[in-house]
Amino acid sequence: MDCLAAALRAMTGVLMTHTSANFYDLTRPELLARATGWGFSTVHAARLWAYAYLSRIEDWALMTELPARFRAKAESELHFARLPVALELQSRDGFTHKYLLSLPDHQRIETVLMRYTGRVTACISSQAGCAMGCVFCATGQMGFLRHLTPGEIVLQALHVDAVLRGTPTGAVLAEPQSRSPHSRHERLRNLVLMGMGEPLHNYDAVMTAIDILRDPTGLALGAKKITLSTVGVVPGIIRMADEARPVYLAVSLHGATQEERAALVPVAKKWPLEELMDACRYYIAKQQHRIFYEWTLIEGKNDSPESAHAVGRLLRGQQAQVNLIPLNPTAGYAGAPTGRESARRFQQVLAEYGLPSTVRQRRGIDIAAGCGQLATAR
Ligand code: SAH
Ligand code: SF4
Repeated sequence: MDCLAAALRAMTGVLMTHTSANFYDLTRPELLARATGWGFSTVHAARLWAYAYLSRIEDWALMTELPARFRAKAESELHFARLPVALELQSRDGFTHKYLLSLPDHQRIETVLMRYTGRVTACISSQAGCAMGCVFCATGQMGFLRHLTPGEIVLQALHVDAVLRGTPTGAVLAEPQSRSPHSRHERLRNLVLMGMGEPLHNYDAVMTAIDILRDPTGLALGAKKITLSTVGVVPGIIRMADEARPVYLAVSLHGATQEERAALVPVAKKWPLEELMDACRYYIAKQQHRIFYEWTLIEGKNDSPESAHAVGRLLRGQQAQVNLIPLNPTAGYAGAPTGRESARRFQQVLAEYGLPSTVRQRRGIDIAAGCGQLATAR
């Protein structure tokens, strides 16, 4: 009998999780439409939205301004998922924190909080693992596990926001912390989709999450405060241009000839360099904004002055900026990062073609929080 009761309870639990939606998966218009569908005024749904995103209240009992009937209905239909922190690591540089967050199905993803001169940036993941297989990337080396839902993307930003507000969500610290990640003056303003996964391979969920993060009555992240980085998924770039998505676009280039690029980025075989460049020019023309090209500098591979000239010829005349990233170490790739002097020479050549460039600061390498180092054990 006890067994039967336990089985029923377990089944009810399963049913509950299937019928109840994660509040954070919904855009504000979707939430209002749900309320209408339940026979309630959208005013109550708007209040519920403000409770969650402005007051950060998730406890139904504290939502006293909502009529009891609406609250009961909403509680039966929605739940506030959270992504518990399995591990938190702080870099010796004192500027970088990495959070390993658990998903409801026990997959794990990584989110990084970075502080560069005067601003705070969250680097968030769009997938658990990645299907694109770039040879030097730890996420690519682990393979694809699954897409994230919009809510799982939004919740990463909410986690960083909670940390900055001094209300971290149950962190387990790996080592004693010398500096608190919290400062009263900081707010999450910048977000980069450069964590685990390929955002344009999970297009719909990523765009829904961006809509939620930008909603002016919620987190209200500025239009030009979100940067999405893609390996070069051509149909996604064209769709972003057609839909006039108000985010910055970064494109991972790494090779300036089809052959050089395909050796590092296998999906170049599916979307060849020429097609990618056509899509980028189309994007720039439609969006009237430059593209950031990312170039991982690997010693002796793609860091010679000849490679830099090839980049110059490829991008000459485009509204573009090149962000150079000296290779970060990963277990599955033996290459070495380009040194400071060669990186500077690379930049000089780019400048001859009128191309501005930056060399990304190496941060968080000791906790594997640098570009391409994010990976979780299965
Ligand atoms: N999937 C997207 C975004 C995540 S990766 C993309 O590929 O663009 C973010 C950036 O880190 C990309 O430019 C990627 O090529 C780069 N990267 C990956 N592995 C790296 C490594 N080991 N060292 C330096 N940069 C790396
Ligand atoms: Fe995926 Fe980007 Fe890593 Fe390539 S670099 S494997 S696209 S996460």
